[in-house]
Amino acid sequence: MEENKGIIDPAAQDSGVVDVEKELKELRLKQKKLERENRRLQIEMDTIKDMNEQIARTQGFMKKENQRQIFYNTQLLKVSPYLVLMVDEKLKTVMASDVLTQMTDVSLDAVRDGMQLDEVLSKVLEESVLNSLLEKCHSVLENRVSDTFMLNNYFGEEEKIYKVDINFYSSPVEGASGLCILFTDMTEVIEAKERAERADKAKSNFLANMSHEIRTPMNAINGMSEFILRDSTDEEAKKNAAMIKSAAKSLISIINDILDFSKIESGKMEIINDTYSLASLVNDVATMIRIRLQEKKVGLVVNLDPDTPSRLYGDEVRIKQVMINILNNSVKFTNEGQITFTIKHEWDGKGDCCLHVSISDTGIGIKKEELGKIFESFTQVDTKRNRSIEGTGLGLAISRRLVTMMGGELRVESVYGEGSTFSFDIYNSVIDAEPVGVLADNYDVKLVHEVDKSFQRPDARILVVDDNDMNLKVAAGLLKPYGIVPDLATSGPESLELVKDKKYDIIFMDHMMPKMDGVETMHRMREMKGGDKWKIIALTANAISGMEAKYVEEGFNGYLAKPIDPATMEDLLKKELPEGSEEILEFGPDDEALEFGPEDDALEFGPGEDVLEFGSEENTSGGSDGSGASVKKSTEELLALLEGLGINTKTGIAHAAGDKEFYLELVSDYVKGFKERSAQLQGFYDSGSLGDYSILVHALKSNSNTLGIEDIGARAKDLEFASRDDDASFVSSHHDELIEAYRKRTEEIGRIF
Ligand code: ADP
Repeated sequence: MEENKGIIDPAAQDSGVVDVEKELKELRLKQKKLERENRRLQIEMDTIKDMNEQIARTQGFMKKENQRQIFYNTQLLKVSPYLVLMVDEKLKTVMASDVLTQMTDVSLDAVRDGMQLDEVLSKVLEESVLNSLLEKCHSVLENRVSDTFMLNNYFGEEEKIYKVDINFYSSPVEGASGLCILFTDMTEVIEAKERAERADKAKSNFLANMSHEIRTPMNAINGMSEFILRDSTDEEAKKNAAMIKSAAKSLISIINDILDFSKIESGKMEIINDTYSLASLVNDVATMIRIRLQEKKVGLVVNLDPDTPSRLYGDEVRIKQVMINILNNSVKFTNEGQITFTIKHEWDGKGDCCLHVSISDTGIGIKKEELGKIFESFTQVDTKRNRSIEGTGLGLAISRRLVTMMGGELRVESVYGEGSTFSFDIYNSVIDAEPVGVLADNYDVKLVHEVDKSFQRPDARILVVDDNDMNLKVAAGLLKPYGIVPDLATSGPESLELVKDKKYDIIFMDHMMPKMDGVETMHRMREMKGGDKWKIIALTANAISGMEAKYVEEGFNGYLAKPIDPATMEDLLKKELPEGSEEILEFGPDDEALEFGPEDDALEFGPGEDVLEFGSEENTSGGSDGSGASVKKSTEELLALLEGLGINTKTGIAHAAGDKEFYLELVSDYVKGFKERSAQLQGFYDSGSLGDYSILVHALKSNSNTLGIEDIGARAKDLEFASRDDDASFVSSHHDELIEAYRKRTEEIGRIF
């Protein structure tokens, strides 16, 4: 059995082998796993090492970068010409630019060590300046809103001006906050600016003086060419003189622009407010523009809001200048279509009245990108297209400044190729709220009226009643083309005598007459036998809205505004004197009224009745050149000379039914009437009879405007309103001026004839 002891059981033997193998396998697996783990750890170790290296590198880089930034900052603070100071919230200094060490004995180390701001700055700033600066620092710290201001400080004798910026900073990293204070020395910049301004002012003054100086010789050129025009018999010389005169005129207008511009630039332009009549202003402007438009196929439409107050307080001259500038541009840049001149208003019955003025044209328009440039001085746009159009590029620059000075703003809208609209508002106080009325009915005179020669009424019986000889003459002149010879009466009572014996087809009755005015005379006529049927038409120069209705209410059959518009007169005659009307007249042309001669105080002016002393082509008149020699002057020459004096002959001729000679005759009467009329005015003025004064000055206004002597018309109008309103102080402060201007005017005109 022992021999069997060493015998291994194969089954048992088999199971022992299996276990070892299994264990070995597991051990190998574990080993592999460990090897893998080892490799992974190795990789991680490497990564960590890499990262460590990277961190070390970054730290190195950052350290270097930090050092670089500190270096840059230090450099910046070193070279900065500005004084920069940084302080913490307790106003302890943190850092400063090196300038500080040049300005004070404070070291940058002391700054870094936290020296107090007031201690540092006390070394450079005066006490009061320092205190105000510290106050501002506290305020910035409290409100955390930066502040910038100018600071003047004396260093001994020398004044320095600094711009100081105080900025609040808060650092998120350190949680620190404080102020960064920057001082910029502006002394030189400000001095340079002042120098430039002084030079600019000197330039403007020079321009103003020069323009003024140029005007004197220009006037001589203008005057001398006028002499040649007047005295020379050489047609060629006269033609040249006319050209010189026209060139002188445009040069004077350019010089005036430069003068205005330089006045504005040097602050010498003033707005001078005074009472003015809106209707007369608009009428003056429109008349001027209509004359310029005569040679163009362009119409002018004037829209004046009829409810606008009639008398305002503002700078009439400058308002006119702006309107004329803009309208002149519209005339220049419009070749067909229409120019529309609109004045609207806004007024609540209190305070200033706003006039909204707009001027539109159907002209060439302005490119969008150039709209901003047109208000710049000496600027013209689209010069290629506008090469032939003259101008200085100053008109709109001046206009814009003037409008601004008057409290408004000049605006423009334009569509290139279609047209432009310029508009502005002006604020004026109201002197008389009475509405201005319909302009076309009141003031606008059609400049060219073709008389309808087919309309002839030599048998018409017409009476004109007016205290003013010239008005009578004008009326007679207006009736002349229709073959009508009117009877004329110079007062209410005279006309009453006339109508007793003669029936008239129409009685034209002036309103304002001394003693018995037109309204009273009309009422007396109405009371006479058959008087209720007479056609009595009121004549008045007080053209305001609603007048027609008022006169009709009063008992008149109608109303004609003076100066009489020939076209309106013709319409009225056609209406009142229809064809065949002669036959139904109760009295024939051989009526006894014709017997009233001048001795009866009823003046008669018939066609050709007055011997013309001048005006015809062969006119001879007394010389005014001091030689005493008679100088022959043609009608055209006389008209040109009158125009040269600034007289609106076009309007005057229109009022004289287009008859130039008749117009000249009226002007001569005007001159001759000076002595008597001024003496009368003086008499009423001296005796304080404002009522009579008002009537007389009204007549002067009306005559002057009729003849286109508008400056006297305007002065007389102001005095008429003042005397009518019993404003004795205005009358006394303006009466002498009127008489003087009236005397000068009549003398100048007298010299021409
Ligand atoms: P100028 O005296 O040269 O006309 P302005 O200052 O009055 O000077 O005008 C400047 C420029 O603006 C003009 O030259 C023209 O180019 C432009 N401009 C002004 N008004 C008009 C208009 N109504 N239509 C077209 N262009 C205009």
